[in-house]
Parts: sequence; C-alpha cells; structure tokens
Amino acid sequence: MWYFVAPEVVYGRDAITRLSQLQGKLAFIVTDTNMVKLGFVDKVKEQLSQAGIESTVFDAVEPDPSVETVEKGMAEINKCKPDWIVAVGGGSVMDAAKGMSAGYERPDVRVEEINPFTPLGPRTKAKLVCIPTTSGTGAEATWGMVLTITAERRKGSFGCRDCTPDIAIVDPEFALAMPPGLTAQTGMDVLTHAVEGFTSTWKNDFSDGLLLRAIQIVFQYLPRAYKNGQDWEAREKMHNAACIAGIGFINSMCALAHACAHSLGGVFHVPHGRAVGLFLPYTIEFIGDAREELWAEIAYAIKRDVPVGKKAAPILAQTIRELARNVGEPLSIKELGIPQDDFDNSLAKLVDNAMMDFQLVTTARAPNAEETEKFFRYVYDGKSIDF
Ligand SMILES: [Zn+2]
Repeated sequence: MWYFVAPEVVYGRDAITRLSQLQGKLAFIVTDTNMVKLGFVDKVKEQLSQAGIESTVFDAVEPDPSVETVEKGMAEINKCKPDWIVAVGGGSVMDAAKGMSAGYERPDVRVEEINPFTPLGPRTKAKLVCIPTTSGTGAEATWGMVLTITAERRKGSFGCRDCTPDIAIVDPEFALAMPPGLTAQTGMDVLTHAVEGFTSTWKNDFSDGLLLRAIQIVFQYLPRAYKNGQDWEAREKMHNAACIAGIGFINSMCALAHACAHSLGGVFHVPHGRAVGLFLPYTIEFIGDAREELWAEIAYAIKRDVPVGKKAAPILAQTIRELARNVGEPLSIKELGIPQDDFDNSLAKLVDNAMMDFQLVTTARAPNAEETEKFFRYVYDGKSIDF
C-alpha cells in the first residue's frame, strides 16, 4: 500500500479569483516584504474581502526561512486564530506557512520533529492556501518544508503528507514579476525535481507521467520565459510545470542533487534552484548505469538522439548543461564565486550535511562519504564525473 497526495489545483489566468469563493472570517497571510511592494498581497486581500474574509499580514519570512521565523508566525496565528492561512510568495514563504499551519494545528509537536512517518492528522482549525510567485519549488503542491537550523548551519527537510496545502492557486500573473535570473534558477529547480523524481528509488506509476511532461515543458518554455518575462504563454507553462513537477516528485522524492544542494545552501547560502540545477548533470553522470534506461527515456521525450552503442546519461547531462548555459546558470561551484580556500575549509561540513540528507535514501546510486567528498571536488572544478 502506498499514497499519492495532491492539493486541489486551480490554474491559469484569473485562478486567483478562487479566493473570492472561500468561506470563513479571517485569513492569516504569510508573505515577505517584496510581495507587499509588488502589490500581490493587496490583490489577495481584495479577493478575500469579496468573500467577506478579513486579512491580517505576516510579512517577515526571509529567504531560507529559519525555524525561529516559523515559531514567530505561529505565535501571531495563535493570537488571531484565523480559519485560513494563505501563503503568497516563493518556496521559502510557502514552506514557512506550512510550518506555521502545522504548529497551529498541533501545538504539541515541534516543527523539526515532523517527518513522513508521524502523521499529524487533518487540519481542523485553518485550511492552507498556497499562491506561488515563482515557478520553481512546487511547494504549493508538496508537504515538504525546507527550514534552516541556524545554530547548526544546515537546512533540514521536514513534513509529512498532512502538511500538503489544501488549495494551490497557480496563476501566471503572479509569476510575471520574476527577473530573468530568478526565472532561470527556479526553472532549473523544476527540471531537477522532474528528473530526480522520475529516476528515484521511489518512482511510481502515478508520478512518472507528470514528471516526464514537466521535463518537456521546461526544455520548451524555460528559455522563452527567461528571454522575455512578459511572454504569457511561457510563463503560464512554466508555472504549471513547477506545480506538476511538485506533485510528481513529492510522491516519489528527489535524489543526490537535492542532498548536495541542501548542504551547499546551508553553508554558502546559494539559492536553492541554482544549487540543484548545478548538481543535476553531475548527479546523472554519477548514477549512470543504475538508471540508464530512464535517462534514455528522458532523452527520447525531449527528442535527443542517443546513438546506438552510446550511453544516454552523458548525453542527457550535456543537454542539461547546455540549457543551464542558455539561461545564464553556472556549471561549477567555482563559478558561484566561492574561493577555493573557503570551499576546502567547509568540505567536511558539506559532506556531513549531504550524508545526513534524506534524499540520499531515494538516490538510485547513493555515494558513501568518500565518494561524496570526491563528488563535491569534481563539481567545484566543473569536471564530469568519471567514478
Ligand atoms: Zn528543489
């Protein structure tokens, strides 16, 4: 027996009007100051007011949100007792909102203790709506939350399927404000979810089709959305792809690229999408033969030829490097501007963090500590994996 979990998804232009159909009295809006400046929070409030719902705003979510921020939000929620929690923002905001929602529902459980094997039970106090403003994490559809444990300089993944948002509102208008760099990073995150989810050890019939379709959409539309942020069709497709990949991978999990990216991000504050996209081609090369048929299947889906007698893994890795280059993303850790000394001094920590990451469990070929160290060194230098 297994589960496939997904929220109600409302997508396409004007999807935001779904808010005007909600029933309730008070919404607690979780967001950041940038979303307030962009006018997105006002748009959300306006729709809620049409439903007769008042709003209160918590706009203090930082990038890579900490457990402390979640606790601050929980304290506010406990004061005002809303019947809806509405997250407006990128993955950081949505993950923080999931943590606050869980803490509101179950004050007896600490957010760092929530894991896939300890169900929380259904939400009875407030439902959770997520409105993404980036086309990347798919956090609007997933139960996972990546939160920073500040004292330990690491990011941890928490959550269980009861943390899945109730409603995901995937309205392309909310993605239009992304600058090209953010479009590229978050788009590479979508691709990494889709490729890792399609090839993880938990891959399954329900996720496979979603993930393969998301891969096709990224190759077709990410360069367009990157070059012209006002290309509505490309924006809508990428916004959909992010959510589709989110639903897919949360039911099959990710792999080595995510484990290494969480580790790198915890130590050097590299944006999540940039980090996972950077590790993806190396991950494909490292897993190699363990998933050869699936690399070939992906290559076929995006119309890349794998000549007879050649392996699909290096061809797919190269194709992904070309896409990354095309959208201005780095191909090595060195290119991120991290000096060799800093990298060398942090290598032991990077390896430790990655080895502790749950995503290694679902990696088709998981590295040991020695291989992980070698892997990081290769990625630092931009050398293709040959071991
Ligand atoms: Zn990701």
